[in-house]
Amino acid sequence: MTAPRLEINLDKVRHNASMLVNLLGNRGISVSGVTKATLGLPCIAREMLAAGVIGLADSRIENIQTMRRAAVTAHMTLIRSPMISQAALVVGNIDTSLNTELDVISELSKAAHAMHRTHGVVLMVELGDLREGILPADLESVVRRTLRFPNIALKGIGTNLACRCGVAPDAHNMGELSALADAIDATFGPVLSIVSGGNSSNLNWVIGGSPIGRINNLRLGESILLGCEPLHRRPIEGLYTDAMTLVAEVIEAKAKPSKPWGEIAENPFGSIVPTADTGKVLQAILALGHMDTDPAGLTPPPGIKILGSSSDHLIVSSDKQQLRVGTEVRLQPNYSALIRAMASPFVAKRIEQGIAEQENVPFQSLESAA
Ligand SMILES: *Cc1c(COP(=O)(O)O)cnc(C)c1O
Repeated sequence: MTAPRLEINLDKVRHNASMLVNLLGNRGISVSGVTKATLGLPCIAREMLAAGVIGLADSRIENIQTMRRAAVTAHMTLIRSPMISQAALVVGNIDTSLNTELDVISELSKAAHAMHRTHGVVLMVELGDLREGILPADLESVVRRTLRFPNIALKGIGTNLACRCGVAPDAHNMGELSALADAIDATFGPVLSIVSGGNSSNLNWVIGGSPIGRINNLRLGESILLGCEPLHRRPIEGLYTDAMTLVAEVIEAKAKPSKPWGEIAENPFGSIVPTADTGKVLQAILALGHMDTDPAGLTPPPGIKILGSSSDHLIVSSDKQQLRVGTEVRLQPNYSALIRAMASPFVAKRIEQGIAEQENVPFQSLESAA
């Protein structure tokens, strides 16, 4: 079988999505399924929809077009602020976009007017992670001006934490988002139907049992695909953490010294490799490298250790038995490794179904994972 390849188990993705939809549904929170890590792969989008997400969300128009072309029907949200140069494309392909700039909303309004359409806008608020967002003090005036644009429908407000600086969603910042929603509705009437609290990193806050306030939507990608929460990368109980597996083939297997020889300088990736002498190691090379994935984001199977990597090679050692040339090694990708593998033209994508009887996860309530 062709290698390297990413094996994608649709049944596990569906299970994860439906567990999360149920958990959050019980707290009055809807889920938007985020497809960006899979480049808008239509079969994944369909599993998310079958699990009950209220719509799909992606950061790239191209991915949304991929899903539209595959006849995936869903409310589509662009979760990165639109480029002005793409305003017409956004309005033509996408129902709602997350926005922080009036200049952009103005261009969306013009494009929507020309196309006799209405484009939905969710205004993103900065709550400390210092990526996208309107400063809370400016929100009221941005809402006032957004409400005046023709062919623009203000749908709600939202925030995004933990993606740049790792700021964790908690009772304090989520309470602030709720209070802002209340203040906006008090000033303008009930204008906000969506209060979108964030991404997979909000799950710890939900599971922790804090009051939910006005938050009624989360945008989830990583937790559905990898079954873990992004703050500490801990598995979420009841979810599969192996819906995605990266498989690579052994192309060299030799017992080699652990200590390189010659003068040691930087490698092409700017790091200096540790050079402790631990005797001979059972070294093997997998045909997988930085061109295919993020080697630092891979977890090898028990008994195998990753020693190093370059553009096209992953160097591993094995504890007991030498790996054999031509055999395959299965690795678990983290988010960084997953998105790079998805985007790499060298990595085949193999869609699988079915969950073996013995791997059935216990159907525990997620609340116990807190
Ligand atoms: C990527 C992204 C998400 C989804 O994040 P996950 O951690 O994958 O759940 C949600 N919202 C925005 C704005 C994003 O960019």
